[in-house]
Amino acid sequence: MTTPESRMRVANRTQVLDLLGRSAPVSRAELARRTGLSRSTVSSIVQELLAAEQIVETTDAAVPRSGGRPPSLLTLSGAPGTLVGVDIGHRHVRVAVADLAAKPLAEHEIRLDADNSPVETIDRAAAMVRECLAEAGIDPKRDRVLGVGMGIPGPVDPHSAVVASPILANWIGLAPGEELASRLSLPVRVENDANLGALAEATYGAARDVEDVIYVKASSGIGAGLVLDGKLHRGITGIAGEIGHVRFEDNGPICRCGNRGCLEKAFGGTRLVELLQPAYEETLSVERLLELAQEGDIRVNRILDDAGRAVGRVLADLCNHLNPALIVVGDTMRHSESFVLGIKDSIDRFTQPDTAAALDVVPSELGDNAGVMGALVIADSASAAQPGTI
Ligand SMILES: [Zn+2]
Repeated sequence: MTTPESRMRVANRTQVLDLLGRSAPVSRAELARRTGLSRSTVSSIVQELLAAEQIVETTDAAVPRSGGRPPSLLTLSGAPGTLVGVDIGHRHVRVAVADLAAKPLAEHEIRLDADNSPVETIDRAAAMVRECLAEAGIDPKRDRVLGVGMGIPGPVDPHSAVVASPILANWIGLAPGEELASRLSLPVRVENDANLGALAEATYGAARDVEDVIYVKASSGIGAGLVLDGKLHRGITGIAGEIGHVRFEDNGPICRCGNRGCLEKAFGGTRLVELLQPAYEETLSVERLLELAQEGDIRVNRILDDAGRAVGRVLADLCNHLNPALIVVGDTMRHSESFVLGIKDSIDRFTQPDTAAALDVVPSELGDNAGVMGALVIADSASAAQPGTI
């Protein structure tokens, strides 16, 4: 099993590779000066990149020798390289091909019921990757594609990279990374989508300056990703952060996960639509609820406030345990001020005062791109992941 890398380390390595991709051969000292990283950090990243044969070292013959060794210079061993991110949600597939600084070169998105059609979803995702690569002018046979990061809307076992949880029942037994890799002949690393949201916000978004963050992914369902001490925390079976399946009502309805009274069953977006539908003539959806909320609809905002408070109540206990610096609210519910403020109110009320004082609750900065950006964060380590692990 591979150890999750510090998002800081990923960001630093990306910075070094990006500079090497844009510059003539440079020395270690020059890399440190131009990236602002410490010499020891640069040295350690360079060692790793040399070992992976992503860069090569040459001596600078142009500098006259005056007794000492000529300085060694570093260059990329090939073209700078491309990353591929695949974000599979309950209702969509989004693909981005990007450079090493995660700047998109091509992006595609389709609407699709991923929960009920895993094989079709992976087929479509593979086709979209090929289309995006072609659109970006990248030929994987000729150009360097470092790897593919892939997010799916359920837990993945970190040891086997297989879906084993009834939370994504139709995907049980499937190894989505292997499936996509066999279709693309590229290395693929797979991860839970809320975890990718957390990594993305911690690397490029609202949490880039903090080490401990809870990313809440709230839309039709509710989940969370945890970055603790700068590293993604998955837990032994990949279930860490599944706050939607924390018991909220003792005698509540049976949930898809097999328990009853789960938070998601009581306050997930799907349930909120059911609660509100009888009061409306039009057919509601989670997206429509958020539009109505922004138009100032009192009934919708009341329900979103209740939902935020309920999610915040569960998060409050988690915050007492983990003492994070930030909660980032992502996915569609980030658009609801009532929902975000509801979470904040519960945190202030139910966490230890010191915990609450040190904690901010903010909407996602990366918005709908969080999943695919997180997939890009793990893409460049896809080839380092051992087969059968994530
Ligand atoms: Zn459940």
